[in-house]
Amino acid sequence: AKADGRNRYRFFDSSLDAAARRRSLIEQELALAVAEEQLSINYQPLIDAQSRKVVCAEALLRWTHPTLGVISPAEFIPIAEESGQIGAIGSWVLRQACKDAASWPDSIRIAVNLSSRQFLSPGLLPLVETALRQNDLPAHRLELEVTESLLMETTIGIEETLASLSRLGLRIALDDFGTGFSSLSYLRRYHFDKLKIDQSFISDLETNSDSRAIVEAVIKLARDLRMSVAAEGVETNGQFELLRQLGCGEIQGYLVGRPKPLDRFEQYLRDNSTS
Ligand code: C2E
Ligand code: CA
Ligand code: CA
Ligand code: CA
Repeated sequence: AKADGRNRYRFFDSSLDAAARRRSLIEQELALAVAEEQLSINYQPLIDAQSRKVVCAEALLRWTHPTLGVISPAEFIPIAEESGQIGAIGSWVLRQACKDAASWPDSIRIAVNLSSRQFLSPGLLPLVETALRQNDLPAHRLELEVTESLLMETTIGIEETLASLSRLGLRIALDDFGTGFSSLSYLRRYHFDKLKIDQSFISDLETNSDSRAIVEAVIKLARDLRMSVAAEGVETNGQFELLRQLGCGEIQGYLVGRPKPLDRFEQYLRDNSTS
């Protein structure tokens, strides 16, 4: 029994080890990623559900490591957040996205994801102002996406930060809406310009009447609170039609377009502008 116990312990220990090793490897390699230009941005279109015109693009970070290959932002963003590296990475994304978007038609906004640490940093406001000014990007073309997990962490300073960002003239979207614990109380406490309905509610929209009821209610809620509303993860024509009929303003998902590198995204814009 003793040997058994020891083996079990060793097994548990070594798998824990592997996870911890991967984590510290990523943290270490991430330090070079910005400098060695391993990071890039993909752009995913959002279209107006009625006109079907592209109205926005979300900047999604990509990391291709020379030996580890493609590493998902879902894996490395939380690590960067904990290690503090998100500051440098997040600034790079914001500046690069504003620069790329500056040459697009004025009717197309750029949406950039903000992690909690970035949002809570005192450097955020000057960073945003500089990114707009240096690229001649009007503030109304920038949208910042924040998640409910950010709002869960603290209440200190959030209202002030949201207000000063709004005063610049940009828009703030609440991302992954519906996945947190107190989504509704955040809507009462803070001002958002837009809600993004999480893709988990969209994926079974056609088959699950509960999801459909929730999506319908969120769309109505957004309208009553004078916010715009987007659905993410739209993959089928059935989902698109249903969302359009329910009055959802914007649609994002593989059906409309996958995230693409800048050159291919701009080609997509040209292909979809004249009709
Ligand atoms: P998110 O902000 O919720 O972004 C949407 C994710 O859904 C993206 O995954 C996108 O590629 C994926 N997606 C879009 N349409 C569809 C669809 O039709 N079906 C399915 N199954 N998926 C779809 P991605 O690019 O892997 O990013 C994952 C997460 O990483 C993002 O979730 C966001 O939280 C984070 N992230 C990405 N870029 C950044 C960044 O620059 N800064 C920060 N702080 N976080 C980022
Ligand atoms: Ca997002
Ligand atoms: Ca999202
Ligand atoms: Ca998400």
